[in-house]
Amino acid sequence: MTQRLGILGGTFNPIHFGHLAAAEEVRDRLKLEKVVFIPSFLPPHKIDEDIPSALQRQEMVRLAIKGNPHFTVSDTEIRRGGRSYTVDTIEALQQLHPGAELYFLTGLDSFLEIRTWKDWGRLLTLCSFVVLSREGYRFRDIAQLGFLEVQERELSALDAREKDRMVATSGNIHVYFERIPFYDISSTDIRKRIREGHSIKYHLPEAVEHYIIENKLYA
Ligand code: ATP
Ligand code: MG
Repeated sequence: MTQRLGILGGTFNPIHFGHLAAAEEVRDRLKLEKVVFIPSFLPPHKIDEDIPSALQRQEMVRLAIKGNPHFTVSDTEIRRGGRSYTVDTIEALQQLHPGAELYFLTGLDSFLEIRTWKDWGRLLTLCSFVVLSREGYRFRDIAQLGFLEVQERELSALDAREKDRMVATSGNIHVYFERIPFYDISSTDIRKRIREGHSIKYHLPEAVEHYIIENKLYA
């Protein structure tokens, strides 16, 4: 049988329950064998004292996914170094898992920016995309991206919670839209909470919270 692999790329600065819950929900719905979490490498010029190193962000992912046998972490973008482009990562994974069906998971906020990604047109044909709902963003805005034969009216049904999922196919592009239970959690908000001395309990796994405290991250 063909292996079905989910891929979740991100900065994971830090990883939180929004990432974990979304990945598990999609794994279940799409019957994926594994979801591979891929922390991006940040170019050195972007790293100031407040940003944990790629290895620290990777370590937080490792701690967070412990206990879920379907989740793994890959260091492919960190090893490659430089700017992390999804198209390069997908090509690397295709080599690593010949014949596997790859599903790239992305939040609606990121997907709406896809036209700014390197080789985005080609990237869309390399693997299936799974677009996850995210608080504050509307599926119907995808109609404006212009490369999918999908009506704004159909997408609005997701926003209106009349539907949980939809698939759009245009030529050899396959995009799954998944309205998942909302986790209004973001790394930006977590970093802000830490800076301001507020609680981050129940936003991310305890082991990650402890790691952040021990290593004095984001403070
Ligand atoms: P930041 O606020 O720093 O951008 P983030 O919370 O958006 O952090 P990322 O590491 O940027 O986290 O996210 C990686 C991927 O996971 C992106 O595709 C993003 O859209 C998606 N994602 C993050 N949080 C959620 C969430 N709560 N629900 C659904 N998707 C999410
Ligand atoms: Mg983000």
